[in-house]
Amino acid sequence: MTELNAFLTRERIDPTHEGPLSGRTVAVKDNISTRGVRTTCGSAMLAEYVPPYDATVVERLREAGATVVGKTNMDEFGMGTTTETSAFGPTRNPVDTGRVPGGSSGGSAAAVAAGEADLALGSDTGGSIRCPAAFCGVVGIKPTYGLVSRYGLVAYANSLEGIGPFARTVEEAAELLDVIAGVDERDATTREPETTPAGSYADAATGDVDGLSIGVPTELLEGADERVVEAVEGALSELEAEGATVREVSLDSLSYAVEAYYVIAMSEASSNLARFDGVRYGPATESEGNWNEAFAAVREEGFGEEVKRRILLGTYALSAGYHEKYYRKAQDARAWIAEDFDGALSEVDVLASPTMPVLPPELGESLDDPLQMYLIDANTVPVNLANLPAISVPAGESDGLPVGLQLIGPAFGEETIIRAASALA
Ligand code: GLN
Repeated sequence: MTELNAFLTRERIDPTHEGPLSGRTVAVKDNISTRGVRTTCGSAMLAEYVPPYDATVVERLREAGATVVGKTNMDEFGMGTTTETSAFGPTRNPVDTGRVPGGSSGGSAAAVAAGEADLALGSDTGGSIRCPAAFCGVVGIKPTYGLVSRYGLVAYANSLEGIGPFARTVEEAAELLDVIAGVDERDATTREPETTPAGSYADAATGDVDGLSIGVPTELLEGADERVVEAVEGALSELEAEGATVREVSLDSLSYAVEAYYVIAMSEASSNLARFDGVRYGPATESEGNWNEAFAAVREEGFGEEVKRRILLGTYALSAGYHEKYYRKAQDARAWIAEDFDGALSEVDVLASPTMPVLPPELGESLDDPLQMYLIDANTVPVNLANLPAISVPAGESDGLPVGLQLIGPAFGEETIIRAASALA
């Protein structure tokens, strides 16, 4: 069997208690802090970094009886859509090892798809859970912003990202969400759901979609590969056959989402990654006492090309004179997108689209053209801009490759998307 390179560190972290996840193995993305176990973020900058504390989600896993089996490969600091920007080499897609697993949480999705872990945690800033779930044929949930603690998650773009589960079935993903969700005093952005779940998220996986109304934004179908559209339409027909209604809706703001997302994500990244200066984190260099040179040298050596590109662009977008032109406009677009979603979700229960507009690319195919790579995030990034929950669920295959259906719900409407998706997997 070809080595998938799903894990960067294989190390067992034992549970502290018995609980609902006793006997279950969980793989954890390598940007989630694990006490005493190296946490690299897929970067040479943190190749030797060992956190002194556990992320809240890791603490909750251990209290729930789960056994962590290792830390998974990822695009460097979460910046990518294929897991190829990792400083430790790409992960392969277990469905077709010549193809990428998606990203940036590619290692977590591949580990679950290949049966190397029962469950996994990833993080999603602009699609990094949903994309690899779609490409590897598993389930991935991006929770509402604030439902799951980010304490111990190494920040890339903190206003957009969150931690969420992967599993082979919707019910198992929901069980993992039950364990990690909830207010955390160490993350002031966590919130109590406005409507508390009736039982548990897992209980919502009833498979019952009778009476559910589904809206399909035309903007998220346009430009998608025909083979993807066909599989997604097949899944929607299945839901209709079980009593759901499907209709087209339109959200004009969505055509600005990729531009807005990349301006905001890169701006936040340029600020968040300033801490990697060779003093607090990163390899030591010979500095001869010149701070600027030492700082530059460690960042030259420690960061890969994609990370450098984003720090430069983000710094530019935030600089005096350009701030109004780029950052401010991106924030306006973000507000418009959130409003548009609110409007659409007051008319239908959930919105549906292909998770990714393309089938999994071949390894190496998308690296030369960063813009092309950014554009394939068109269907996932709007959800992060609007702080909403979404799930990617297998919608069948095309040419032997998995296709994902994305279902988007209202804020803290995890139960609705779990219920809808559970009719399919
Ligand atoms: N592909 C997107 C990016 O590179 C999303 C990544 C993510 O969600 N971490 O920013």
